[in-house]
Amino acid sequence: CGIVGVLGEHEAAPTLVEALKRLEYRGYDSAGIATVNSGTLGRRRAVGKLVNLSDLLVHDPLPGKSGIGHTRWATHGVPSVTNAHPHQAGPVAVVHNGIVENYRELRAELAEHGIGFATETDTETVALMTEYYLKTGLSPVEAAFKTIDQLVGAFALAFLFDGQDDLIVAARKGSPLAIGHGDGEMYVGSDAIALAPLTDRITYLEEGDRAVLTRTSLEIRNEAGELANRESRQIKLDH
Ligand code: GLU
Repeated sequence: CGIVGVLGEHEAAPTLVEALKRLEYRGYDSAGIATVNSGTLGRRRAVGKLVNLSDLLVHDPLPGKSGIGHTRWATHGVPSVTNAHPHQAGPVAVVHNGIVENYRELRAELAEHGIGFATETDTETVALMTEYYLKTGLSPVEAAFKTIDQLVGAFALAFLFDGQDDLIVAARKGSPLAIGHGDGEMYVGSDAIALAPLTDRITYLEEGDRAVLTRTSLEIRNEAGELANRESRQIKLDH
């Protein structure tokens, strides 16, 4: 299972699928991508191998230069298109590896606000809670951070927002996550291998870190919300 993301200068979909292929070795049962195109969030998901997602994209392309992608190894809910990531709730799309251990409590809280559920996954609560905070007037970054604060478990996360084609929020706890620096582009991936054809300049998030990416900037905060200084390094990979 794996996570990728790109804020690029070219079409994101082929880059995302290519990066996901480099994470295939981890195993998965379904895959999906989301992009922002002219400000509008869209997504495509397919069960089975990545070729199924590629085929879908041939018939139903997903334009846009910003995007996130995911290969899923189901832990909560059967492998199906509905349960596949990205999970979207209104203006936010989320990809997640790991387990949100307190998702039942989060579901109960959301239900108290009259919010219903479309999937069997733990991940959907992350998207729904972020949407809820956006509705209360928080910015995308604030809404994502406030949601992340409430998650118990092991996770790597990436968020993409409608109307924001130069923003990805990412977070890591118990599941590695690497940020890749390009030339006027920024990437995120489960590991440096996923990003190898794109860049060899990598910043690894540390436990509890959350990152705000744009094409030209990277801001990392630790679990306490304080600005954190994480060195980028040149990675040598055979590819
Ligand atoms: N727990 C999530 C799910 O079952 C993510 C699984 C994964 O790591 O791919 O959808």
